Amino acid sequence: MADKEQMKMAGKPCEGLFMTDPVEAYQHIRYTVIRNYGDYAYGHPLHVWDEGRRVLGKCIHCGGYVLVQSSEFHSFTDAPDGYYTDFFPVSSLEEADELNKKYDGFAIEREFEGRYLMETNGYLKWSK
Ligand SMILES: [Zn+2]
Repeated sequence: MADKEQMKMAGKPCEGLFMTDPVEAYQHIRYTVIRNYGDYAYGHPLHVWDEGRRVLGKCIHCGGYVLVQSSEFHSFTDAPDGYYTDFFPVSSLEEADELNKKYDGFAIEREFEGRYLMETNGYLKWSK
């Protein structure tokens, strides 16, 4: 059984991540950064492509948590750079850090068990 301290730490994922319309979800998910994990931890990068980072956000609308991975692809032609942001539902700091430990940038996109929101150069869709 969880003790009082754990109950206090446990939260819920941002409600936007359970919406149907990805655009509506994206508009809902406004957050303050409560942890910045940077671009590298546990021996692997926390992004895909050339640069990026992962942060834990707390939604200003619903108080729920969201793990945000942003990545940048540097174009080596005249094409513009690519920008990719993923929003993963998490319930606590502990859960967010477990995902950091378990998955590097590419692995979290492939292997995350739930549904997450993907933004690619401004285009929004659900992972599944
Ligand atoms: Zn929210």
